Amino acid sequence: MNLVIDNLSKTYTNGTKALQNISLDIPTGMFGLLGPNGAGKSTLMRTIATLQDADNGSIMLGNIDVLKEKNEIRKVLGYLPQEFGLYPKVSAAFLLDHLAILKGLSNKKQRKALVEALLHKTNLYDHRKKNLGGYSGGMKQRFGIAQALLSNPKLIIVDEPTAGLDPAERNRFYNLLSEIGENTVVILSTHIVDDVKELCTNMAIINQGQVLLKGNPIQSIAQLEGNIYRKTIEKPELAIYKKEYTVIAEKFMLGKPVIQVLSKNNPGNGFKAIPADLEHVYFSNLFGKN
Ligand code: ADP
Repeated sequence: MNLVIDNLSKTYTNGTKALQNISLDIPTGMFGLLGPNGAGKSTLMRTIATLQDADNGSIMLGNIDVLKEKNEIRKVLGYLPQEFGLYPKVSAAFLLDHLAILKGLSNKKQRKALVEALLHKTNLYDHRKKNLGGYSGGMKQRFGIAQALLSNPKLIIVDEPTAGLDPAERNRFYNLLSEIGENTVVILSTHIVDDVKELCTNMAIINQGQVLLKGNPIQSIAQLEGNIYRKTIEKPELAIYKKEYTVIAEKFMLGKPVIQVLSKNNPGNGFKAIPADLEHVYFSNLFGKN
């Protein structure tokens, strides 16, 4: 089942054009929505999650019209917002059981089996009796996924999930999402390029409410292969290089600027070709004029 977004637009009352004719066809699997802060990611996620309305356009999940059949979509949606509140003084097992009751699962035995399965799946079983207030950032995120999975969703939306997670927690979270992505549409919104590189089979880069690129991360990288060059320069030269070349990254190494430029042909002048990666795809779409 695909999520098909067609010509979606939203202008806030203060005039900010948060979404401008966004069209995306998102298949089952992990989809990365990549963009800098303010790009429109949360607006798009909240609109898909039926939490706010668009001005124009449509969103279909299979046969369900997301913008019109809000109750239908909510039955098959799992949404993990950037920030979500947890009751700090209850345990994961208790809260999941409670949420399952609210979802109408009245059979105690079935509920227990479901809650235990979700706790195992999210690697929280050993911590199931601990109060949620004592959970680490990663554990909270995994609990968020556990509760999102309660209703056996067909569409899962996770907004900036890895901010604040340490590398081990991030990996655990990635693995969990990949597993879920095998039979669900999972949309991951992030400004962290590595999140998309590690996880997503499809992606879109958005900025200022517009889609700059849609496609497969590996193919997008392949298209840039041979077009990225690097050079160490002197600090006072930086402004000149920025004028003459399409500089898509600058870093300091041992006190000197190392610039990476986008160029169809070898620029010579001491530049060396380097392999392309997803950061280059991202920054060449944001800053490139090639
Ligand atoms: P992202 O999630 O990519 O950081 P957002 O969707 O939060 O982007 O924001 C997109 C743009 O819309 C930004 O310029 C932001 O300041 C603006 N924006 C977001 N929410 C509102 C709102 N409720 N009212 C007015 N402007 C908003």
